[in-house]
Amino acid sequence: MTKLVRKIGLVAHDAMKKDLIEWVLWNSELLMGHKFYCTGTTGTLILKALKEKHPDVEWDFTILKSGPLGGDQQMGSRIVEGEIDYLFFFTDPMTLQPHDTDVKALTRLASVENIVFCCNRSTADHIISSPLFLDPTYERIHPDYTNYTKRFENKPVVAEAVKSANQRKKRTV
Ligand code: PGA
Repeated sequence: MTKLVRKIGLVAHDAMKKDLIEWVLWNSELLMGHKFYCTGTTGTLILKALKEKHPDVEWDFTILKSGPLGGDQQMGSRIVEGEIDYLFFFTDPMTLQPHDTDVKALTRLASVENIVFCCNRSTADHIISSPLFLDPTYERIHPDYTNYTKRFENKPVVAEAVKSANQRKKRTV
């Protein structure tokens, strides 16, 4: 039987980093063997903590750029590529972030792809203790955006643009 590997994103704003590191350490046995994507600083700190606790374990960590330097956007691109099923993003509710728009974009993409997403520790506790987390038969529903992506299929927008471009050309010569 192939081992269940969950693809997990981990991010924490500075004020929440200790919280996320503690949470990962607390749940390290459950998290072993899964695949992780992290923003730069969060990932580096978590990996250091995990290696200290489990020196003999190999961890599958992909460490992206730091969040404010584009790491959140890289995480978003991993989400839309289907590489992330869970995103634990501990956000700081008390500090305005310089990359607030990136954070918003990331939370939106989490909904677009219907991944499991949470932004605080209590919710993270509930997710990790859900039987579904380790249930190999559970797969999230991948939303079907075919109608959206094909919305221009039967519309004459290209023909209309070509026509008006040609008319403009005629007027200018
Ligand atoms: P960091 O980024 O892990 O590089 O600090 C987190 C964030 O998006 O704020």
